[in-house]
Amino acid sequence: MSNQPTLHAVEPSICFLDTVASLQTSFKSGKTHSLEWRKSQLDALKRLLIENEKDILHALHQDLGKSESEAYVAEHGFLLTDIKHTLKHLNKWMQPRKVSTPLIAWPGKSFQQPEPLGTVLIIGAWNYPLQLLLAPYIAALAAGNCAVLKPSELAVETSTIVAKLIPQYMDTSCVEVIEGGKEESSALLACKWDHIFYTGGEAVGKIVMSAAARHLTPVTLELGGKSPCIVDSSTNLKITARRIVWGKWMNAGQTCIAPDYVLVVKGFEQKLIDAIKKELKSQFGKNPFSSDDYGNIINTRHLHRLQGYLDGVNVVYGGDINEARPAMTPTLVLDPAKDSAIMQEEIFGPILPIVPVASIDEAIGFINDRPKPLALYAFSDDDKVLNSIIDKTSSGSVCTNDTMIFMTNPELPFGGVGNSGMGSYHGQAGFDTFSHVKTVMKRAFALDAPVRYAPFSKFKLSLLKKFL
Ligand code: NAD
Repeated sequence: MSNQPTLHAVEPSICFLDTVASLQTSFKSGKTHSLEWRKSQLDALKRLLIENEKDILHALHQDLGKSESEAYVAEHGFLLTDIKHTLKHLNKWMQPRKVSTPLIAWPGKSFQQPEPLGTVLIIGAWNYPLQLLLAPYIAALAAGNCAVLKPSELAVETSTIVAKLIPQYMDTSCVEVIEGGKEESSALLACKWDHIFYTGGEAVGKIVMSAAARHLTPVTLELGGKSPCIVDSSTNLKITARRIVWGKWMNAGQTCIAPDYVLVVKGFEQKLIDAIKKELKSQFGKNPFSSDDYGNIINTRHLHRLQGYLDGVNVVYGGDINEARPAMTPTLVLDPAKDSAIMQEEIFGPILPIVPVASIDEAIGFINDRPKPLALYAFSDDDKVLNSIIDKTSSGSVCTNDTMIFMTNPELPFGGVGNSGMGSYHGQAGFDTFSHVKTVMKRAFALDAPVRYAPFSKFKLSLLKKFL
């Protein structure tokens, strides 16, 4: 996205070393290691969400104009499902993962033993301000860590309610919410963590990674970028349009995995545009500004950024703005220049460029010439076409004949590749991200074969070659 937050870390005038030290002390006490503690904290978080559902949904509505249904599906309910899945599988995830042992180490047993990392920092973004902060927290809790949560300062109401509720429900010796912006983030990044989990733009991702490098701290970077959507002319037009509208205009397009642009086989673009327009009217009415189901833009700075994308391009639908709300109507742009800002930057808003291409192979080439996307969508009735797109492209995730629905499966790791990020979470992937999988080999004193000890001989070497 353009107009990124300041691209350099500011010199912190505040210090969180005491906060981190106190969490580290709690971690060292060992209290977070047990299955009981982890389950009790996940139960507490579940209670927090259930008992405060109304206030949480209200905060999300104030920040982004999210409808109750959308906020439930993508934030509140999403987190409850995540907790339920985690509670169901946690015992199994925590168990040592037994592997075989080579002859030379017999008798012996080999395990991969997950252990908590320690004290972790989770930095959230504003577009799904609850989900993106608490889903990593669920994984961090499951893995037995202490955590500092840093909500995005742009989603003010959600940040406030999270900071109020977490201390009321959670074990406060093991978690702290630090509100604020760049200054607080920079001060937090100056501390030594056992893991940093960051969700947001690429530019700040680089700041996070360089701050982490100073302490050799591992990072997960959940970034964004331009997620393409390929449409083949064999597709089911009505369902394709409906699912593109669902994925693109949820949260007014402010979703990291929303289709950023569509590559459609030439000659089919007008049919697709007409079907999308029809579907937009059916989902949000003739005037989306008066629809309770249509979201706001986070602030006027972002609204103006989006408005800028419409300069000099062919707007074939929408393009209206409402400064007061602030919001922009669902907007379609036909065949913008490849070097225009709208085709160079992540749109992160309700504008969808429709780009005609000569063939599916051209669409694949177009994607492969650009940074690896976070998500990729492909619509076709031909399985061969879909498989060729899956095989010939690289992206964090790929979903065929639908858009963001793959996020509802906690069995699927979620994360980017290349410029769209590193590391993943959701379900066991999140547990593993916040765990160190320790190698354990348990040996006994029996059968201490001299073959591996000096002095060596040709005979010993021939045995070693067999046993290793
Ligand atoms: P943002 O402005 O909320 O920033 C993200 C976090 O970084 C905030 O907590 C903020 O306080 C902190 N931050 C800002 N400037 C900083 C600095 N100089 N130093 C340290 N920390 C700083 O969010 P954003 O960056 O506008 O988010 C939008 C981007 O995030 C898009 O690119 C989107 O695709 C991506 N995103 C990715 C995912 C994902 O799961 N992969 C999810 C949501 C958003």
